[in-house]
Amino acid sequence: MKAAVFREYSSHPNKVVRIEDIDMPKIKSNEVLIKVEAAAHNYDDLWAIFGKPIKVPLPHISGTDVAGSVVDIGEDVQRIRVGDRIVSHANIACRVCASCTSGKEYDCNDRLVWGFQTGPLWGGFAQYTHLPEVNVAKLPDNVSFNDAAAVSMVGMTSWHMLVRRAKIKPGQTVLIMGGTSGVGMVGIQIAKLFNCTVIATAGNHEKINRCIDMGADYAVNHREPDWYEKVKNITKSEGGVQSRVDVIFEHIGQSAFPHEVSLLKMGGTLVSTGATTGYESVLDLRHLFFRGINILGSTSANKAELEQVIYWTSKGEIKPIIDTVMPFTQITDGLEMMLNGNHVGKIVNTPQRL
Ligand SMILES: [Zn+2]
Repeated sequence: MKAAVFREYSSHPNKVVRIEDIDMPKIKSNEVLIKVEAAAHNYDDLWAIFGKPIKVPLPHISGTDVAGSVVDIGEDVQRIRVGDRIVSHANIACRVCASCTSGKEYDCNDRLVWGFQTGPLWGGFAQYTHLPEVNVAKLPDNVSFNDAAAVSMVGMTSWHMLVRRAKIKPGQTVLIMGGTSGVGMVGIQIAKLFNCTVIATAGNHEKINRCIDMGADYAVNHREPDWYEKVKNITKSEGGVQSRVDVIFEHIGQSAFPHEVSLLKMGGTLVSTGATTGYESVLDLRHLFFRGINILGSTSANKAELEQVIYWTSKGEIKPIIDTVMPFTQITDGLEMMLNGNHVGKIVNTPQRL
């Protein structure tokens, strides 16, 4: 079978990633063998190639979001059958610790992101791959492989941030930072699913319009120095008891964080899943204690949350946004597109189509 393999680290994906012929994977008794029809790109694919911030096992196959059909099952597999259409849940956890047994497999000390930290040669950018039964979710017939691969990681990450961590409620005002990023696009749709008022931010005029197209009620340009004043003015025009926002969906980091904190209502919540512009920031502690705000971290999600995202995708309430679908042989073009960062929506490759 063919797989996209790299054997050394590089800052240029096209110098090290090659389509190679490798042996078919052998499944363990609790695993399923998957014929991969669609595999979506994420930033951790690039981090793996760079070898930063962590070294991944070499030789390496990246790819954490795959959808496809089950073609073989191990003898201890209970609920998945050959022929089932599935999507991956990339959170590999121990399943026996206190976090795992309380449904918080994202807090497992032994968790690994499949296709990023796993290997050698164990990820989704391949014609066939394997996962424990507990790491796959069944797909309804009306959710395509491309849509499932595109929505899985960003969808469950956003769901976990807004629903599980920030506990959004109908009528709240939610600020979605980076509304055209992978997580931001689903974040807008989840906040609208919960009947929240959504203010999104984006970096240029075209992306601002995309936020509105995806359902945001308002959108502002976060590259303008007074962007946070514009957000404040919008919340004033919305009226209500207090202006400002109830929940901030954050992954921008250093450049935006101090202004974001000043936008929260009394008792408001900021939930963070990343820090694209830098890790170190300043927090005015008066906001924290006197205004009783909550600052929460969030990463990944449990499989039940992924299944919620797939359910709402099947109902048409979450629409996966795909920028490009490309044949497997062009996988390095997809990785270079990720590097340039001009895409809006997911980049998906199709391992069965060379
Ligand atoms: Zn565990």
